[in-house]
Amino acid sequence: MTIGILALQGAFAEHADMLDRLDTAHVTIRKPADLERHFDGLILPGGESTVMGKLLRDLELLEPLRERICGGLPVMGTCAGLILLAGEVEGGAPVFATMHVRVRRNAYGRQDDSFDTEDDFRGIGRIPMTFIRAPYIVSVSGGARTLAETGGRVVAAREGNQLGCAFHPELTGDLRVHRYFLDMVRAAENHI
Ligand code: GLN
Repeated sequence: MTIGILALQGAFAEHADMLDRLDTAHVTIRKPADLERHFDGLILPGGESTVMGKLLRDLELLEPLRERICGGLPVMGTCAGLILLAGEVEGGAPVFATMHVRVRRNAYGRQDDSFDTEDDFRGIGRIPMTFIRAPYIVSVSGGARTLAETGGRVVAAREGNQLGCAFHPELTGDLRVHRYFLDMVRAAENHI
């Protein structure tokens, strides 16, 4: 199994470290030619969603990646990566818009824009969560389902092949969210 990591900007190296710890091969996606390499799942990292959206468009990666996501490619978006997947974005513009969630960018305000907490993630249990100028999920609709909430806000959701987290599982050292994603990729490969 090989995972593609969008590596235009932001915290992509941290996801690569997590995949190394899970003995999972990965390739970086930076330009259209990288899409010719085989990958079974895609990670959209944290960073700055407006910058990533612009780079995706300018580098002509947006449409080909969007088509693959719509075609069932398993994808995990963390923080800015979740914003890229969201169908509706408060305080910004939708990018892939493949997931039926409405997110609010920079939702926690200036005072506590970055914090660590711990809460339940459905199917995993209690996990550490690191938030950095994070969005939260205002509403979940269509086929999207809430996977985690903290402080009364939805912070993770899944819609079929798409997983979005408002926090950064790649920064906590806890491998369980990445394992959960790799299980999604395995299930897609086996058509489970
Ligand atoms: N605030 C960023 C954005 O709106 C997300 C922050 C992050 O990914 N850590 O894109």
